[in-house]
Amino acid sequence: MKAKKDSIKYHTEVVNGILHMECRVCGSMKPVGEEAVATTCSVCVSEQYEKEFPFEANTGYKPSGKPRGWAFMKEYVDKDGNVYHRGKEQPGLKGTMKSSIIKPKVSKPKLSKKQRQQIKMDAFAEIGKLKKKLKAARFKKDIKKINSEIKRHQKLIK
Ligand SMILES: [Zn+2]
Repeated sequence: MKAKKDSIKYHTEVVNGILHMECRVCGSMKPVGEEAVATTCSVCVSEQYEKEFPFEANTGYKPSGKPRGWAFMKEYVDKDGNVYHRGKEQPGLKGTMKSSIIKPKVSKPKLSKKQRQQIKMDAFAEIGKLKKKLKAARFKKDIKKINSEIKRHQKLIK
């Protein structure tokens, strides 16, 4: 019996004289060499990578002990009043200062590359609509409003 991977024939297409093959994961067409039997596009490769090496959210805060990076801070005072200058304890200063308040970083939900692309595409479409609206707008207040909407969407594309 033949191995399964050999039995799958992926769809190929010649676009502008360049052979393209569908990504074996998402099916999008990607340029490949003549000898390719299967391909995984860069989007899927990076997603695979993230699955294998998950990104650990750095909250920068631990309920007990010191926050991440405390040893690099110019001055850090722990909850017992111990003072540290760049990680070095300053016994003479103990209890003379308020404890450092380290705000935990709020980590945004991590979007996949596909989701980020979708957001950009939606923003592009929205800007197109807004620009049409802008052409039709007569009143200053409407123009102002539309322009700020456009700016808001342009931020999403960057
Ligand atoms: Zn893919």
